Amino acid sequence: ATPTALLVGTGRGAQLGILIKGPQVLEATRRIDVAVLDKTGTVTVGAMSVAAVAPIGNSTRAEVLAVAGAVESSSEHPIARAITTSAREAGPLREVRDFGNQAGSGVTATLTDGTEVALGRPGWVADRAGGASEVGDVVARLEATGATTVVLAWGGQVRGAIALRDEVKTSSASAIARIKDLGITPVLLTGDQEAAARAVATEVGITEVIAGVLPEGKVDQVERLQRAGHVVAMVGDGVNDAAALAQADLGLAMGTGTDVAIEASDLTLVRGDLDAVPTAIALSRRTLRVIK
Ligand code: ADP
Ligand code: MG
Repeated sequence: ATPTALLVGTGRGAQLGILIKGPQVLEATRRIDVAVLDKTGTVTVGAMSVAAVAPIGNSTRAEVLAVAGAVESSSEHPIARAITTSAREAGPLREVRDFGNQAGSGVTATLTDGTEVALGRPGWVADRAGGASEVGDVVARLEATGATTVVLAWGGQVRGAIALRDEVKTSSASAIARIKDLGITPVLLTGDQEAAARAVATEVGITEVIAGVLPEGKVDQVERLQRAGHVVAMVGDGVNDAAALAQADLGLAMGTGTDVAIEASDLTLVRGDLDAVPTAIALSRRTLRVIK
């Protein structure tokens, strides 16, 4: 491999909006047969909006929003931004203190009267509060629409569920078709629940889904695929994707994503467009063919 030919390849990458850490990166692309794609912010836009608010028990929609918005106002998560925006539109937020964040699961806080609040992944909230069976029906109904659904509890009781809508990026479906044309199997990886993940997967043409994965579990999923003999590309944007991006044979970060993800990756897709994934892999393979 002559360094000059490799550098020409990386120069072409830059023109296409693909930043390559170093020419040695290209070598890894040859045998890639699986592309693991993070869902939120990678396949989808990651700009969520509230689609439905379902009070549970004797709470009201206004109460659910006022409490949820207050807790989420301290979080940067796309779910948090959506809920805070809706809550502010609906009325004044409740006052909370002692905000806590459990990455990949949800958020907690305390109301001024000392009541503890938890908001997040249905199973995680149900573990902290009773009423899991009643919640199951409401959550299942909301998730059947393909919406990411979070649950709110305070005072040890589940009080409501909130469904969030996220749009698939316009280029995701065609990008995934091109990834398959390269002989690479796309796999959707997410901390979100199975039903919401399946809805997105179907929309973009992915059949392999790994859902309900905790942030620290993403790297394990990449390792598991590698142990099974696959050469894995990982595409992500979030802090919780960083370890998996570093573990993968080729890590591709969305340029629109977090600095931590970009640091951990081999390639940065400047425009944050999934279309750059097959372009980058095809470019690398072509560059290598010229050299060999
Ligand atoms: P993804 O893998 O899709 O990027 P995350 O790992 O960030 O998702 O989050 C996984 C799940 O944890 C979410 O679908 C949600 O149920 C819950 N969650 C995480 N952060 C929050 C938050 N700030 N508010 C509510 N729920 C949250
Ligand atoms: Mg993400």
